[in-house]
Amino acid sequence: MGAQVVESELGSVNPATLELVGSVPVTEPGAVADLVAAAAAAQEAWGASPFEERRTLLLRVVRTLLDRMDEIAATVTAETGKPIVESFTTELLLAIEQVLWLASHAERVLASERLRYGIPYLAHKRAHVVYEPLGVLGIIAPWNFPFSIPLTQTAMAVAAGDSVVLKPSELTPLSGEWVARVFAEAGAPEGLVCVAQGAGETGGALVTASGVAKLIFTGSGVTGRRILAAAADMLRPVILELGSKDPMLVFDDADLRRAVDGALWGSFANCGQVCVGVERIYVARGLHDRFVSELARRAGELRIGLGEDPETELGPLISEQQRAKVEDLVSEAKERGAEAAVGGRRPSLDLPGWFYEPTVLTGGDPAARIDREEIFGPVVTVRAFDGEDEAVQLANASSFGLGASVWTRDADRARRVAARIEAGMVWTNDLGYSYGAGPAPWGGVKESGFGRTHGKHGALDGFKGVAEVLHGNAKLRALWTHRRGLVHLATRYMRGGVRGAVLSSERTSSSKPR
Ligand code: NAD
Repeated sequence: MGAQVVESELGSVNPATLELVGSVPVTEPGAVADLVAAAAAAQEAWGASPFEERRTLLLRVVRTLLDRMDEIAATVTAETGKPIVESFTTELLLAIEQVLWLASHAERVLASERLRYGIPYLAHKRAHVVYEPLGVLGIIAPWNFPFSIPLTQTAMAVAAGDSVVLKPSELTPLSGEWVARVFAEAGAPEGLVCVAQGAGETGGALVTASGVAKLIFTGSGVTGRRILAAAADMLRPVILELGSKDPMLVFDDADLRRAVDGALWGSFANCGQVCVGVERIYVARGLHDRFVSELARRAGELRIGLGEDPETELGPLISEQQRAKVEDLVSEAKERGAEAAVGGRRPSLDLPGWFYEPTVLTGGDPAARIDREEIFGPVVTVRAFDGEDEAVQLANASSFGLGASVWTRDADRARRVAARIEAGMVWTNDLGYSYGAGPAPWGGVKESGFGRTHGKHGALDGFKGVAEVLHGNAKLRALWTHRRGLVHLATRYMRGGVRGAVLSSERTSSSKPR
């Protein structure tokens, strides 16, 4: 059981109580084109607006977020079951931080850049890369961070002079609705941020709607592939923020308490439904047993219950299907020899929702599905390694590559190991926090997707770069300076070998130099 679609109404269900939280009208696929047209009309003026106007809107968005904090957090917790503390921290504070960063830095990040060719016969040319708005961005969002993900992506687009049509997850439509509401209350022009509600068909209509300049998709690899295939036909660019199976490498000199704290947060925050959730822990053999018993003890103490209760540390999974998937993976792992140091079953609670105990699995066949597939639940596997090479090899033995973390007191080792890990982000003695840090880019490698959101590189991904190559004013001086090469250039020009240069385009960058 998940979303309920009743006669073009989409009902949102609380996954802890199974009560209806509220409902929104479904946007029929045929109506998505109208939203895109409205967003395109709004973008025309917005794209030409001075940055000062965009900054004013972004700062008003921050004000609105602060004013509406309690209501937004309550909506997110009701729709996802996540602990209310997490709704305030990972949904609201994080969003506020990102919007503030954009208000302060986007103008500088997106300023035109002078190009220096460094080629003697082009020294008389003047070239600039100018970042221009793309137009209408289609944002398709998941349910696990149903407010902060679409809100921050929308803010990036708006800062860049783009408008947005957002398609929230059908499991969290009310949190998605808040994104447009916050912008509207902050004074955004009508049509700048539109919301299309519904499931895959509505999302599919947005992917192919005429007038969408670019798509930002955050969700599963299965859907990501579908979207990429549909967008490919139209040569429509797509940023894909997909799933992962992040490894955590704990070396024998690590601060054990800190590493266990990190594992608890990394594996069980948001009931393990985090794209950079820690799903695989590899521990130096000498520390393995102590680590497992400490992690199992602390995981067993986590308080499970209603997200609205401030004492709750672990809420339910989002849906019956999600819990069934987790149970299936755990049972296959157990059949193949894995043992649960803690958890591995449903808790006995007085609530009907989709709860599952925090679970730490050890041993068993490393080829089990649980070692390869994204779990997206409160379950983590722990295995021992011998030496740096094996640790790196285990970390990289995955088709995913979003985040990873290295835990050691040796800074040289941390850098050395991090440089060998195949992931978009590698943290040392910490994890995941950079999603909330303004300047840090976000995105994966391998099957975790491509393109970047957040930070300078994310902001540039929301723009099209246009290199304007201008003839310099001082043509006579240039003629004199390059007199020796002129004959040669003229000869090539006559042969059609030199044309006016048009450089492009958008940039992406990995946060980790390779
Ligand atoms: P999902 O792929 O099921 O759905 C994501 C969105 O796509 C929803 O809005 C859904 O309605 C829409 N959709 C479904 N079919 C579609 C279609 N054919 N065309 C267009 N849109 C369609 O993902 P989910 O279950 O909502 O989210 C969980 C996944 O998201 C996990 O794999 C998680 O790792 C990933 N995720 C990644 C990041 C990241 O930053 N890389 C962040 C959060 C979540």
